Amino acid sequence: APAETPQVVVDAHGLPYLDSRLPVRERVADLLSRMSLREKAGQMTQAERAALTDPGDIATHALGSLLSGGGSTPTPNTPEAWARMIDSFQLRTRATRLQIPLIYGVDAVHGHNNLAGATITPHNIGIGATRDPQLAEKLGSVTASEVRATGIPWDFAPCLCVTRDERWGRSYESFGEDPALVESLETVVQGLQGRADGRGLSRDDKVLATAKHFLGDGGTAYGSSTTGTYTIDQGVTTVTRRQLEAIHLAPYVTAVGRGIGSVMPSYSSLDLVGDGRGPVKMHARADMVTGVLKQRLGFDGFVISDWNAVDQLPGDYAAQVRASVGAGVDMMMVPYTYKEFSATLADEARAGRIDEKRIDDAVSRILTQKFRLGLFEHPYADTTGAKDIGSAAHRAVARQAAAESQVLLKNTGGLLPLRKDQKVYVAGSNADDLGNQTGGWTLTWQGASGTHTTGTTILQAMRKAGGNVTYSKDASAPTAGYDAGVVVVGETPYAEGVGDVGNGHDLRLSAADQAAVDKVCAAMKCAVLIVSGRPQLLGDRLGRIDALVASWLPGTEGDGVADVLYGRRPFTGQLPVTWPRSEAQLPINVGDASYDPQFPFGWGLTTLTKIPAGGEARLRALAAAAAAAERAGADRTGRALVARARLIVQQRVRDRMTQAVAQPFAAADHLLLTGRYGAAAAHLLRAYRAAG
Ligand code: BGC
Repeated sequence: APAETPQVVVDAHGLPYLDSRLPVRERVADLLSRMSLREKAGQMTQAERAALTDPGDIATHALGSLLSGGGSTPTPNTPEAWARMIDSFQLRTRATRLQIPLIYGVDAVHGHNNLAGATITPHNIGIGATRDPQLAEKLGSVTASEVRATGIPWDFAPCLCVTRDERWGRSYESFGEDPALVESLETVVQGLQGRADGRGLSRDDKVLATAKHFLGDGGTAYGSSTTGTYTIDQGVTTVTRRQLEAIHLAPYVTAVGRGIGSVMPSYSSLDLVGDGRGPVKMHARADMVTGVLKQRLGFDGFVISDWNAVDQLPGDYAAQVRASVGAGVDMMMVPYTYKEFSATLADEARAGRIDEKRIDDAVSRILTQKFRLGLFEHPYADTTGAKDIGSAAHRAVARQAAAESQVLLKNTGGLLPLRKDQKVYVAGSNADDLGNQTGGWTLTWQGASGTHTTGTTILQAMRKAGGNVTYSKDASAPTAGYDAGVVVVGETPYAEGVGDVGNGHDLRLSAADQAAVDKVCAAMKCAVLIVSGRPQLLGDRLGRIDALVASWLPGTEGDGVADVLYGRRPFTGQLPVTWPRSEAQLPINVGDASYDPQFPFGWGLTTLTKIPAGGEARLRALAAAAAAAERAGADRTGRALVARARLIVQQRVRDRMTQAVAQPFAAADHLLLTGRYGAAAAHLLRAYRAAG
């Protein structure tokens, strides 16, 4: 006879919702039936932990959630301090009637970036350059395990924005300009959350993820504000329904399929051509948040508002609350106004101006995720994984990402990779600056220059790699005695609208960076590395540079950059966004009618293999083979064949990029991402002919 199943003893005090043997659906229904309107309103409320005037408010207002906005960290900023702090808040819920646990959220957008000593991975723009879905999943796992080990079960990431104009200061939070590229890297959701059915969420190394910012955050127009200030961030996205679906909605279809647990609407407004409504804030768009996301796509997680977004809606506060809750926002991020929000919500419902069914739906969605996360059974931090925070194993994944994200845009005379026996002169503002390398959303919201956490700068990594390196930040007295110069320039950290062009930032190098490049490149063969969140404009300076690398914001592991510089790993990165010739070309994206960039989407030289033999006949054969692979469903073969064809074209083009080459070249990469290998290779053949 089969062994008897041991009886699981659950002390549920006769309350079904505490009985972990019951299906989540039943537990949610039971709990909901016991909740008062005030308690429901509290569940829908999220306060900022630093804005909590009195931790007793957690119980008094039956709060459902707390967050740490960028940089709102405990002191000291250690894993133990995070865990203790969150546990102390959680303890407050024990004093409530139903003891519903809090869900605590942070923005861990490139590793656990609010924690000193954590592994900081490249920002998303660099992940876009890797074209490596398996790596994206691994990075998600690293982030999830470091975040959960500090008692935090919820991450406001990934950003699924499709950046269409890099004057937007949040472009580095995007995987790139092509929705197919963004979709391909959403494997990160599995890394963060585990299984698509949500059953992995209760593990001590997984977190609830948030797809943000729904919808069209990356499509806002530059300088469109009527107030005369530049508001590309939180601005207006004007698109046809077709463009909306193909460019901005596609990543959400994929995210819902991957079981994303929460979604954050965008601050931006959507102006849908032809619907006659003009620009409407996303937080008030019921047609999109409820109609499209929840009903059409079948999203069953919950919608968390953006920071104070409810305040941006028209009308008085009650009208703002009605509009956003009515649109389908389930939980409101009201950092400072949590009391006003929960009271207003309850009042409006009591007065019948908000349907209580809507509130029940919102609360059910929130509770479902809390049950899935296992918070009722394990409300307190499980810090078992804290020993792995910033570990060698985690840093190795971030290092791999940093290496794979490096895009070799130009390499005249094969200057890169460097050899260790070469005497190298290193200069520039970003060669030895960990803060500039990690960018915004690192320890503080805006990020900061200098050494703020544990990591390795590019200069330190070049020395560790055994390079024979002389360093001068401002390139004083470079001489021709050196075999090569490496000038590392680019941006300083920023976040959100602060980083918009027109807000004190532009896409040109600073005067100091320009001077460093000019001095070094006049004296010796030089490679320029650009550490930035987006393309930088070099103008005719580009002609005087031998090698050019887009390094993006590689994170704490400068070793990854040194790996490709010294040839320990090949350059394999490809542009996730189009690199323009001038600001006048912006916005510029793959698929544009007149596409004449400096470097097209998908560009990136490689030091991977010997370049395969070229010629038209060879490319025709590759195109035929790629088409056959596509018909046979042989994806890996198809991708490999297109990659080979791309190398042949790049070899022919070298520096002679023209519009006739760029257009089919970039289109090929888009086709590759959508699995159309035959057409991709055929486009590469066209690019090859145009380069002739
Ligand atoms: C950002 C969000 C972020 C939130 C919480 C907002 O300003 O737009 O991306 O999740 O702050 O920090």
